Amino acid sequence: MHHRLIIIGGGASGLAAAVTAASYGVNGIAILEKQSRTGKKILATGNGRCNLSHTPISASDYSGSVSTAEILAGFGDASGFFESLGLCCRTDEQGRVYPYSMTAAAVLDALRGACAGYGVEELCDACVTAVTPMKKGWRVCTEDAEYTADAVIFAAGGYAAPQLGTDGSAWELLRRLGIPLAPPKPVLCPVRSDAGMLRPLKGLRVRARVTMLCQEKPIREASGEVQFTETALSGICLFDLAGLVDPKKCGDFRISLNLCPHQSEGGTAAMLYAFQAVRYGADSEMMLSGIVQKPLARLILKECGIRANTPCEQLDGRNIMELAGKLHDLQFPVTGLADWKQAQATAGGVKGSALDEHLQVKQHPNLYIIGEAADVHSLCGGYHLHWCWASGAWAAKDIAERSAQT
Ligand SMILES: Cc1cc2nc3c(=O)[nH]c(=O)nc-3n(C[C@H](O)[C@H](O)[C@H](O)COP(=O)(O)OP(=O)(O)OC[C@H]3O[C@@H](n4cnc5c(N)ncnc54)[C@H](O)[C@@H]3O)c2cc1C
Repeated sequence: MHHRLIIIGGGASGLAAAVTAASYGVNGIAILEKQSRTGKKILATGNGRCNLSHTPISASDYSGSVSTAEILAGFGDASGFFESLGLCCRTDEQGRVYPYSMTAAAVLDALRGACAGYGVEELCDACVTAVTPMKKGWRVCTEDAEYTADAVIFAAGGYAAPQLGTDGSAWELLRRLGIPLAPPKPVLCPVRSDAGMLRPLKGLRVRARVTMLCQEKPIREASGEVQFTETALSGICLFDLAGLVDPKKCGDFRISLNLCPHQSEGGTAAMLYAFQAVRYGADSEMMLSGIVQKPLARLILKECGIRANTPCEQLDGRNIMELAGKLHDLQFPVTGLADWKQAQATAGGVKGSALDEHLQVKQHPNLYIIGEAADVHSLCGGYHLHWCWASGAWAAKDIAERSAQT
């Protein structure tokens, strides 16, 4: 079967590419999706609400070797893209853009509805096993069918969330074509730490200012809710810092929690002195529980070498200063990153140096790389999906322009 365009992977970027190419008049588009339906991951995004973009947004929000500036500028505003598909969006006070109905299913319905309207073929349960260049165009094989196409868009994602279809196995297709890939690394994921410290904190949630330290130097901070699991620190601020960790050099990294970011360390020490007086007769754990939850109070006391049942009036000035210091800088060693199942995105992918300005593979004309398969990543907040829409639309426009010329 011959198609003008085959898209490998029916996720966010693949669907955006299909809709855009079709809207520019490209006929004969097929999406090959290995799962039983397209867009499964979209349904899981933003806790089922799909944080589909961020405003403002610019190239400085992205890391990786692919140049994003022209592509982002060419795409513009994601709300405009979705309004053209009949989906109204809203933006919250932090600049995160959602579908107005706050349901991810509405985003998928808009994309799939547009695909169906344009006659894009969605071929599901179709796992692509080989992509081969021909004299003119491409041959794309699944386990039980063979297709040819003038152009191919690779939109098969990365390694993150293998339970949703992306286990990285599709990158083997790229390796076989000799396309250079930056090694994959989970980002937007919990950060693992010392189980002995974390186990007693399991289930706690605290608000904190979190700093990632590398060789004891602060490299970035983020604020928000920190969630403790048995083996990791989690929460959006940890997801945003996880990308900084070099998994091969975990020992260089530490996480510092400031549990009282609203005041100075001196202010916290003054508060502790006041509580010592007010709580006269209570033990130290009870006194600290006026500031943090008891399991954290116990950990802080242990880190300061103070027994939890020490009567608080026995704490001397040095103890109080140490406790204040720990409340502002409670450090956890980094022992690794969470596994791919818990990661929301992949850093790494096809290197920018392998792609031309249209996201076409330089050594393989008419093969394009979009979405998470390209070496681009960012923070939480709608940036990843925005890149998927923008890169999908960008490659699709180039294909449409070339189609118009032939
Ligand atoms: C739980 C979760 C929540 C998230 N929330 C947000 C959010 O709110 N905002 C945000 O910006 N980002 C979010 N992300 C990240 C975002 O969803 C991804 O970056 C984005 O979906 C990647 O899109 P993609 O098109 O590159 O790949 P995917 O959406 O991963 O799609 C790739 C598709 O290719 C298919 N495929 C793979 N191999 C083959 C093959 N060999 N043959 C055929 N098909 C194949 C897969 O089944 C999959 O359907 C979240 C991710 C997760 C896991």
